[in-house]
Amino acid sequence: MSFDRPFDRRRLLGHSLAAGGLVSLSGCMSPGRGAAVTSRIIGASPGIVPMRASVDRIIDIKVCLRPFRPQGPRLDTEMLGDTLVIHNYGHGGSGWSLSWGSAEVAVGKAASALPDRVAVVGCGIIGLTSAVMAQRAGMQVTIYTREVFSRTRSVRANGSWTPDSRIALTQPAGEAFGALWERMARFSWKSFRAYLGLPGNPVDFADQYRLSDEPFTSHGEEEEAPPPGKGNYASTGMPQDSSEFASYGERIADITPGHEVLAPGSAPFAAPYVRRSSNMFFNFSTYGHYLMQEFLENGGKIEIREFHEPGELAQLKEKVVINCPGYAARDLWRDSKLIPVRGQTAWLIPQPEVHYGLYINNVSALSKADGLMIQAFRPGLGDMEGVGDSNELPDRAESEAGVEVIRKAFMGFRIG
Ligand SMILES: Cc1cc2nc3c(=O)[nH]c(=O)nc-3n(C[C@H](O)[C@H](O)[C@H](O)COP(=O)(O)OP(=O)(O)OC[C@H]3O[C@@H](n4cnc5c(N)ncnc54)[C@H](O)[C@@H]3O)c2cc1C
Repeated sequence: MSFDRPFDRRRLLGHSLAAGGLVSLSGCMSPGRGAAVTSRIIGASPGIVPMRASVDRIIDIKVCLRPFRPQGPRLDTEMLGDTLVIHNYGHGGSGWSLSWGSAEVAVGKAASALPDRVAVVGCGIIGLTSAVMAQRAGMQVTIYTREVFSRTRSVRANGSWTPDSRIALTQPAGEAFGALWERMARFSWKSFRAYLGLPGNPVDFADQYRLSDEPFTSHGEEEEAPPPGKGNYASTGMPQDSSEFASYGERIADITPGHEVLAPGSAPFAAPYVRRSSNMFFNFSTYGHYLMQEFLENGGKIEIREFHEPGELAQLKEKVVINCPGYAARDLWRDSKLIPVRGQTAWLIPQPEVHYGLYINNVSALSKADGLMIQAFRPGLGDMEGVGDSNELPDRAESEAGVEVIRKAFMGFRIG
């Protein structure tokens, strides 16, 4: 299962426990620690305005490469001459979600050198949050970047809370990374709370509906998470199947919302089986605006500059550098462990009156401030979709097919 989707496989498992035979269960818990997977049959879902999904409303198609490393993001340090470089890249499908926690780790390492000023390479979501965190720790910051925030790969993402989406493989990452992941996820979750309720909703929550023609129990776990043990990535670094991707959601089950099964007929969708959860998401333009505003108001400087090899960082006047080039580290830092995982989203005319997301037949839709976003997944691939694919050209047919699935989901929709 792709974790860009607002439902994770542990919740699916929790759901399948609860939905069998559509009996009413209250407080059905996942077997793991924490209580996030709370499934029960409940009543109506008010205020659902139909999504206007049609191909003539597509205003943009974006392609992005998730910067995936089997062992998890790179957060180690190295010396280039007299310059301390702190790496902060390779966050797979979780960069938005883990950004603050990862910045906290990187800035902590920078602070150990007691610098007055630091350089940040890159102005994607990782570079920008690192820069703001460094300022909050009292440092003067210059961002050196090839592109400003609005042109980075970051704004071509989905932008939902998906903190363990293709973040690592279970094997090379190991338990130590699990603990670090939890620290980053908890720190980020808390940090996002400061942006809730601000004008323009930079960070927001919305209900997410998962629709199905069949009871959720018949969606075997296999479809979402293929059986383990098939893979052999030792030689290539590439995962061989979805089951090799690490899954850490259970570690933060105490702070993340669970899901509910709606009583048949209580939701206006034609699909008979409906499950609802709530998930946090990020509105790129307003959230980016708040981050840039804080950075500039605190004296931050941005210099447009492209680096071609690591040695150039040692020429900067700042002797502490936080390195956040995202997928570009594959070339810049010759990091062959960095694997591209392609993903594509279609953006339709914004519908501010719609405030929810949908997932049906391998297509997800989410109404955001800057557009109705539709992302189609190929059946059966799960997290393997796009692995090793560095093609950044949009595939319009893929997006149109996804839009069509969402359009059909509203045939037979009951208004009022
Ligand atoms: C389809 C898709 C959906 C996603 N959905 C989600 C989601 O829902 N939730 C989530 O948490 N994550 C999601 N992600 C993952 C997330 O987008 C990434 O993890 C994140 O954007 C990585 O950010 P970054 O700042 O490291 O990289 P980038 O955004 O690529 O930024 C890199 C920066 O470095 C600069 N740079 C690069 N090379 C050089 C150079 N040589 N010299 C100078 N500057 C340079 C660039 O100009 C840019 O400013 C998704 C990704 C994809 C592809």
